[in-house]
Parts: sequence; structure tokens; C-alpha cells
Amino acid sequence: MNHGAHDIDIDTDHDLSEMDYANTSIDELTSSGHTIRARIRPPVKRWLLSKVLKRPIPTSLSDRLPTAQVKVLNEDLKSVDSVYLNLNIDDLCPLYIEGEGGIDLGGGIGVGLSEAVRRLLDNFPKLRLTLFAIPSCELWARQRKKSGLRYSLDISLPMHRMWLDDYKDLVRRERIEIGLHGFCHVQYENRWFSRHTEFAFKTEAQTAAVIAQGMRVFRAAGLDLTGFRQPGWDINSDLSLIDVLRENHFLYVAGSSPNAGLNGSGPLVSNIYPTLVNGLINIPQNVELDWSDTRIDEAIQQIVQRCGIVSIKAHMASPGTPNALSQQKIEKLGNLLLRIEVRYGSLIRHATLETIAAFVARKPIIRDYEPASMNCDSEEAHAAQHPTVLGRESGSRADDLASCGSPLKSHTKRPT
Ligand SMILES: [Zn+2]
Repeated sequence: MNHGAHDIDIDTDHDLSEMDYANTSIDELTSSGHTIRARIRPPVKRWLLSKVLKRPIPTSLSDRLPTAQVKVLNEDLKSVDSVYLNLNIDDLCPLYIEGEGGIDLGGGIGVGLSEAVRRLLDNFPKLRLTLFAIPSCELWARQRKKSGLRYSLDISLPMHRMWLDDYKDLVRRERIEIGLHGFCHVQYENRWFSRHTEFAFKTEAQTAAVIAQGMRVFRAAGLDLTGFRQPGWDINSDLSLIDVLRENHFLYVAGSSPNAGLNGSGPLVSNIYPTLVNGLINIPQNVELDWSDTRIDEAIQQIVQRCGIVSIKAHMASPGTPNALSQQKIEKLGNLLLRIEVRYGSLIRHATLETIAAFVARKPIIRDYEPASMNCDSEEAHAAQHPTVLGRESGSRADDLASCGSPLKSHTKRPT
């Protein structure tokens, strides 16, 4: 995707820590084919939203921390002598357009980022990924015209079945998890503000309606509903998104970076441990591929020392998007995983965010299908190494993990 001044991207997911709020120019006003960069100070934006446009205030523009019940969930993590690591990649959808200026959201079959993901998994057999998929991605009119896209990106459509089956195969082999990433990735409530923040300006009722749409598509596509990440980080500062997700029985939200999402208006949730926020587990993102190797290594070292979760963020999408998996970034990621292997060895435990959330929730993972095979080198070995920690609850996850190769038998409440 082109990130020039005349394009509004579906997913820039800016690192807000890098921005000067007072002088930010992320808001764009498109009128009569022209793009004007608006430079409006946050207090003015807040007044504009609440008094003129009558819209909710997103966390990035709120001048106070949201009212929320929070509890950091680090006890179990500190008692285990390994550290969880997950690579989470946003924006998976069936879009792959070749060539210069093309778009690759992991939508190819055996090519592009789809192939790169498979190679990465082959090269690092213990690696586990969480891919956040857009149920029905929408492009801007300009992008649609430029790309020549003429079909729907609804992942449940029969035309995308072969593509999705490839990813579902990786899910069955327990190499990846597919989480929900909004519905279309675009907000239409407020065309003057960032358009890729799907939940920034929604009321609770609007949020519930859009989550229901996304869930419907996931179910129609035959995908489990376990975890969620909101597109573009920003959410309504009343945190009603969390309530909607909890009421729909999501296991977790991956809704925070150090300075955005749940932390958009200030430090609300932990950056290295899961936090229970208004009754829902939040798993933080805390390492970005765009950072220098030195900064990444230092961050990981600090997380490991504190027995936190190493949660590395990347994007499908074209070069230019923050943390995008360009060829260069894929190589950088490979080198990073090698360094981690050398430096920390078996101390690192690769896992999907779902596995991590289930661990801290002390709930078993259930499947709507029978896993083809389970990797006895990872989960079961870990359970055997830490029986006192994982086995503290009868009928809990440890019991399930002990049944190597057999279908998981215990069920906890899951989105239906
Ligand atoms: Zn996204």
C-alpha cells in the first residue's frame, strides 16, 4: 500500500509512542479528491467529537484513564521456569496483488507472505503464530481502483475456501491460531479522523453489532472464535469493546501496545504480563519489528528477566506499513528468532496467544475439530516438566495436555 499523503491506509496501526500528540497529523480530511492534513490539538478534537459530532472519545484522545477494574495476572508466569513467546501478525485476509505497489495481506496460495509464513514455521519448528484475520476487509475507493480489485474479501466465500484451507491446516497442526480482527477494518462514523481504527468512535451498540458481523463470518468460515485484536488499536474510551467481547465469551483480547489501545490514554494494563481488565484477559504486545535490533534485544532481555510474555508484533501488508513483513523484515525476523534461540534456548516457550490466555485463565483449550496430531516436544513436555503448576486444577489444561495424540476432551465456554 502506498502511504503517501494522498492515500489513507487501511491499517497503519501507528506506534503512538513515536508521535507528538500536540502536533500530530494523522487525521486526514478527504474532500473533492483532495487530501488535507488536519493539525488539530487534542482538546479541540475532544470538543469536536463530544460537542459537535456527538461521538465517543477514543482512548488516544482521552485526557483521563478509563474507569476499569484491572488485575495483573503474573503469578503463574513467575512460577514457571520458562518464558512465553508469541509472534502476532495482523491483517490476514484473502488479498494478494502482485507487482510494484501491490498488496499482500497473506492472501496468496504458495506465494508471497503466505509462503513466507510457511517457510518461517518450517525453519523454526517450535514457533507458534497468532494471525489476526479481517473477516471482510474493505479497501478505500482509491485503493480498490488502483488495485483493480473486483471481488469481495469476505473470508467465508467459497471462492476463498482453498486459500483459507491452507491456513486452517496450520491451525489443525497447532502451528498457528487465527484470531478475529474486527469486521472490515474501517470506521464510517467519523470520516475526519483515522479511518483504520474500526472501533474508535463506536457506541457500545454499534460495537456489538460489528462484533456480531465479524463472528458470523468467522463461524461461516469454520473458524474458532477465541481471541480478538481491534484494528488500528484505538477504541472508545468507555472500553465498551471489552464488555462486548466478554459478553460474547472471547477468551482474550490482544488490545494493547505500550502506548496504544488500552494504554492509549495512559498506562492501564501491563506491558509484559496479561491483565484482567473488566473481566477479560488482555495479552500485551511489547516488541515491534520496526525497532532496531539493539532495542528489540534489550526489550526481550528485560521481559525475560521479569518472566513476562514476549509478544512481537508484525503486519501483513506492503512495505511502508509499520512492522510490515517486507522481505527485509522477514530476514530480520529470522535472525531475531535465531538470536533468541542461541541466547535463551529452552527457556523460551513458543505459544499462541490462545495458549497463553488459557494458561493464565487456567482453562482448557477446546476445539471444534480433532487435532490431527499434537507436538509432543512442546506442550506435553512442558506439562511434564511443570506438573505442580499446570496440574493444580483437576480436569484442567494439564489433564488435557497429558492425553498426547488424543482429542481434547474438556470444554470451557467458548463463543458459539
Ligand atoms: Zn490491522
